[in-house]
Amino acid sequence: MRAAVLHRIRDIRFEDVPKPKISKDEVLIKVKAVGVCGTDIHLYRGEWKVDLPLIPGHEFSGTIAEVGENVRGFKTGDRVVAEPNIVCGACYFCRMSERNFFCENLKATGVDVDGAFAEYVKTKPENVYNVPETLSFEEAALVEPLACCIRGVDNVGIKPGDSVAIVGAGPIGLLLLQLTKMAGASFVIQTDLEEKRLSLAHELGADHVVNATKEDVPAVVKSLTNRHGVDVAIEAVGSPDAITQAMKVTRPGGRLNIFGVSPQETVWAVKPFDLYSKELTITTSYRSPFTFQRAVKLASTGRIKLKPLITHVFPLSEVTRVFEVLDKKLEKVVKVVMKP
Ligand SMILES: [Zn+2]
Ligand SMILES: [Zn+2]
Repeated sequence: MRAAVLHRIRDIRFEDVPKPKISKDEVLIKVKAVGVCGTDIHLYRGEWKVDLPLIPGHEFSGTIAEVGENVRGFKTGDRVVAEPNIVCGACYFCRMSERNFFCENLKATGVDVDGAFAEYVKTKPENVYNVPETLSFEEAALVEPLACCIRGVDNVGIKPGDSVAIVGAGPIGLLLLQLTKMAGASFVIQTDLEEKRLSLAHELGADHVVNATKEDVPAVVKSLTNRHGVDVAIEAVGSPDAITQAMKVTRPGGRLNIFGVSPQETVWAVKPFDLYSKELTITTSYRSPFTFQRAVKLASTGRIKLKPLITHVFPLSEVTRVFEVLDKKLEKVVKVVMKP
């Protein structure tokens, strides 16, 4: 089959590789669409270290191509998405039953084992979910990031009436926007550096958008919240500056969720006194533990708008160029989806 293989840092090639062979307990999925995630860019840049060579791709949809002998409940041709994180069920963290992905033997498709930047990908049926005809394959590829965002909203705990600031209006920020509104946020302020993303945020329900290259974000948030700051701030960029900004706009006693994935070695400088004097509750969010089912339901009912987020669709054969463009930020994109 044809696949995109990451050989070394900044060296991803479209080439022939053996088609995955499934065991009796696995299914083979013919990939129809796969999203390019910030994580994939981290892998490409070496900012998140993994064993190479690797076929990345963890946000995917497709159809069932082969079903292992022991697998029940799926048949060839089923339209599906799959949770990329595969847990062992037997380690300390799995047995603690705390519903997280701290499994000591976690194997994520597209991060630890070969993923979906390929014609075919294999996985376990426990990780697979059917999706309806009404959801396009491109949209279905966004179920994975949506599941991650549900975890973030769960962790920070949006309450009806909360005012919220979301720093960053990329695909994640725009999914968080829709989820926080749905969870009862009374007022959502969204910031970004790009006008195109901010107008999309506005279309998708942001009550106020701030271009951080033109306006002072903390000053704007203060003026919109009686000088208090927001009840909840969510950082959806993956950079220390964005975290600092999110922290600044959170009111005393408020909650902050650091959602964005910063490069592994990046350090965030913070004044402990600022934390002390505000009694902030800080949460983070790690992947999508047990939120996939809910993401499938929200996406399938159309209550979450996924289509407007997809600004670019490319054939997988163009993977080398796509990664160069994204790495160097040569083009303004929101979500890029590739098709094998
Ligand atoms: Zn992702
Ligand atoms: Zn485990």
